[in-house]
Amino acid sequence: MKIAVLPGDGIGTEIVAEAVKVLDALGLKFEMESALVGGAAYDAHGHPLPESTLKLAKEADAILFGAVGDWKYDKLDRPLRPEQAILGLRKNLGLFANFRPAICYEQLVGASSLKPELIAGLDILIIRELTGDIYFGQPRGRREAPDGEFKGAPEAFDTMRYSKPEIERIAHVAFQAARKRNKKVTSVDKANVLETFQFWKDTMIEVHAQYPDVELQHMYVDNAAMQLVKAPKAFDVVVTGNMFGDILSDEASMLTGSIGMLPSASLNSKNQGLYEPSHGSAPDIAGKGIANPLATILSAAMMLRFSLNQEEAAQRIEAAVQKVLAQGLRTGDIWSEGTTKVGTVQMGDAVVKALAS
Ligand code: NAD
Repeated sequence: MKIAVLPGDGIGTEIVAEAVKVLDALGLKFEMESALVGGAAYDAHGHPLPESTLKLAKEADAILFGAVGDWKYDKLDRPLRPEQAILGLRKNLGLFANFRPAICYEQLVGASSLKPELIAGLDILIIRELTGDIYFGQPRGRREAPDGEFKGAPEAFDTMRYSKPEIERIAHVAFQAARKRNKKVTSVDKANVLETFQFWKDTMIEVHAQYPDVELQHMYVDNAAMQLVKAPKAFDVVVTGNMFGDILSDEASMLTGSIGMLPSASLNSKNQGLYEPSHGSAPDIAGKGIANPLATILSAAMMLRFSLNQEEAAQRIEAAVQKVLAQGLRTGDIWSEGTTKVGTVQMGDAVVKALAS
């Protein structure tokens, strides 16, 4: 089992160190190799995703990723910015399925801005298609408007598109995930307005025929955005395209109120995956030793489950995280009156200790 460890920038290095510590404590045999990515790679090699990092990522069974980015790189040409490394990894490894669970831990119900009864026990999974849609469709660009009221004026345009195989493969991923959960898939579209998403809906219905044991529901994206805050527990698995998924997965993650708790996985058809916390590099708190490492530790648990076939070890980590929360340990982002504030390293140590007990 080979793991490429790419800590990246900002708090990335701090939180990944804790996840590696937890993986080491499992007593399993991993080969772990680290490489620079993002701004750190740009500083050292002049590119956010150097060839050597990409080679390591391709050879590994899984990638444990921290976060990339810092305001100081904002003036670089777009292809050299740290965030391009993630797009490059997604593209080169064909990571088309993004899993973002939103789980509300019993002990953190108070961290949400929603009423406790709405989110207590929440456990939903957003599956976002990651390599298609308007983010990658061609042609795109700027030109003179060819017709209409503003003919001749400068305009910009993008292309929304999905091929049938792209929709089919993400549909299979969603139905199979639902089979291991509560057997309900909500496919989010905008079929009432967009041809691409009528095609999406038609294809979802076709693929669903192979999964009669799973319930399929269709929902327009505007309604889905409302239902996620009105009655989030009514969802089980939500599957949607790249752009709608980008927005809804952030909305869903905020239901739990604690960005430092949210893991994510991006998988290809061989179950090779990139595992990272849902948050960014948090330059505002980098180097202070106060970042919450639990999202990254929980991402490592997802990595064991999905790419390394180590379900038992994944559950051990998740149980250890529950245990430290039950002990009242909290980093600053999830701290509340009556709990004990700890730093990044202490939180990692506590998870390691909980694994052993
Ligand atoms: P961010 O997620 O880094 O931070 C948002 C807020 O949440 C900040 O106040 C931060 O301190 C806090 N926060 C985030 N993670 C935390 C943690 N583990 N523990 C405690 N607090 C935490 O988002 P941002 O500030 O918009 O972006 C900062 C940089 O990160 C930018 O350069 C952005 O491009 C980049 N970014 C990278 C990724 C990624 O690597 N996948 C994702 C999002 C943003």
